[in-house]
Amino acid sequence: MTAPVFTALHQALGDDIVVAGDAIEGRYLGDWVVRAETTRVAALVRPRSTEDVSAAVRICHAHGVPVVAQGGLTGLVGGAAPVDGCVLVSFERMTGVEEVDRAASTLTAQAGTPLQVIQDAAAAEGLFFPLDLGARGSCQIGGNIATNAGGNRVIRYGMTRDLVLGLEVVLADGTIVTSLNKLIKNNAGPDLRQLFVGSEGTLGLITRVVLRLHPQPRSQAAALCALERYEQVVALLAHARASLGGTLSAFEVLWPDFYALVAQPESGVAPPVAAGAGMYALVEALGADAVADRAAFERMLAGALDTGLVTEGVMAQSPSEVRDLWRVRDLSGEFPRLLGASVGYDLGIPIGDIGRFVDACGRALRERWPAAKTAFFGHIGDSNLHLNLVVQDGAQPQAELDAIVYGLVREWRGTISAEHGIGLLKRPYLGHTRTAEEIVLFRAIKHALDPKGILNPGKILEE
Ligand code: ZN
Repeated sequence: MTAPVFTALHQALGDDIVVAGDAIEGRYLGDWVVRAETTRVAALVRPRSTEDVSAAVRICHAHGVPVVAQGGLTGLVGGAAPVDGCVLVSFERMTGVEEVDRAASTLTAQAGTPLQVIQDAAAAEGLFFPLDLGARGSCQIGGNIATNAGGNRVIRYGMTRDLVLGLEVVLADGTIVTSLNKLIKNNAGPDLRQLFVGSEGTLGLITRVVLRLHPQPRSQAAALCALERYEQVVALLAHARASLGGTLSAFEVLWPDFYALVAQPESGVAPPVAAGAGMYALVEALGADAVADRAAFERMLAGALDTGLVTEGVMAQSPSEVRDLWRVRDLSGEFPRLLGASVGYDLGIPIGDIGRFVDACGRALRERWPAAKTAFFGHIGDSNLHLNLVVQDGAQPQAELDAIVYGLVREWRGTISAEHGIGLLKRPYLGHTRTAEEIVLFRAIKHALDPKGILNPGKILEE
């Protein structure tokens, strides 16, 4: 049966842009983790311009039909998964960098532009867009902004929200709000763009973006360090921050359960330091002066070794060795092969407490499942802890695991999402992280911008 909204969209936008619900390819029906609970989709719209997006949303608004925006579908929490009877709006055709402004150090692009294309366009002008994640080739900048993506270099350059200067968005009734600001300082009233950053498609659809660029780094130094205890990791972080003069660009920490996966032959990676230490840290600095930066990094590492903070440290001697060190951290992308079909968590805990949290969490899991296999790691400089785990053969008891892990997160005053978002998966636990008053305020903003509740309903908040 053809939905009336399909007929109206088809009349307005034509065959090229509007695909009937029953003709949609399976790839639009979920993200990397979550498949749609429904396959009943009224239509897929593949706009070529902001005006197309506006026309489509206006029609959905008139019909009271849900609209789900889709970027590269690389999310991990079901934020872009279809909801029953919805119209999907895919940004895959709205790609392209429109301008790099060297004087302002900004880049203007359409929302569907892949992250890697943006990184390359900035580099071609001698500039640098620091947001970086494993999905760089597939994820789109509009989705990065809608989810306020994090990644490895947040410690130096901030989250995505710190890299967004301007946005163009389509509101729930189809109104286009163009705010393609290039100014670093613009205090003309509240900062409306930040409303849409991290809103996961529930407040508006991002169509174009202005990004803040940084100077291209001219030096890169990295070391993998072994330490005895978590307290020393915190001390190393402070030492690296103080002695690297603002060039510290990554501080990635691996617990022994993760490093055991690295050290086994199946990993395909040569472990840079011996297994058996209490903790491991990958420290990276990006700077502007290859010789001076290298000397400063060597002094930092030597100081940490001399004082016994670090028991063993291996510093990369070439760009290819830097890449080798990152391969150790990036083995998290190989968990399906190394750990099995694991459940993943993206937690935030105050930095000083993370070591004790990991101990408590591991203990609670092993009390319930003595053979539980865990891998703890994270962007500890940003208080962001990841956990992947397998507790039994076959399907994992997700609900029971969530109750244990998120229960501990609430006790330790952390967050259930540091960088992946809430989407569908974490909705039931939003109250573990946000106060009742914060949720009431968010509902009021949602109602003001989307009174009919058509934008990505049932995401972040339960309806
Ligand atoms: Zn991460």
